[in-house]
Formats: sequence, structure tokens, C-alpha cells
Amino acid sequence: MSVPYGEERRRLMRRLILIDRCCPGCASPFYVDHTGKIVARNGQIATLDHIIPRGRGGRNANWNFRLMCRACNQAKGLAAALR
Ligand SMILES: [Zn+2]
Repeated sequence: MSVPYGEERRRLMRRLILIDRCCPGCASPFYVDHTGKIVARNGQIATLDHIIPRGRGGRNANWNFRLMCRACNQAKGLAAALR
């Protein structure tokens, strides 16, 4: 199973924004902009984050995703690479 994309990804992210009102990394609130994209108040676009990282057996299942702003997701990836 791969990371959802296209319409499926949009639907998943729309569902997640109802649960994840703000970024778990920096607490910046998410909102839907005029183009329908989900962005954080800090100007970063929202990304899908694996709650259990794939490197530790996390799956590309809907329950394993949450929203995270791109800056925090990249910082998390970097920290994981340095471990
Ligand atoms: Zn963030």
C-alpha cells in the first residue's frame, strides 16, 4: 500500500483536519485556503505524517497518518536520519 495521492489524499487530509486542528510539532493551526489546500497558520503547507514511521514498521494505513506542517515534518525526518 502506498501513500495516498490525488483525490484519496485530499479526502484523507480533509478528514484529518477535523481531528488535527493544529500541527503536533509547532501547534500552528491548520486552515483550508482559498484554493482548497490545507496550510498551517505559519505559512507552511500541511503534509501527511506517519505516526509510526515506516522505518519502524509503520504502515501506509489511514489510521497511521496525521497532519503535520512541512517544516516540522522535514525536521522530524532529519532528526530520524541523525539517530
Ligand atoms: Zn509544525
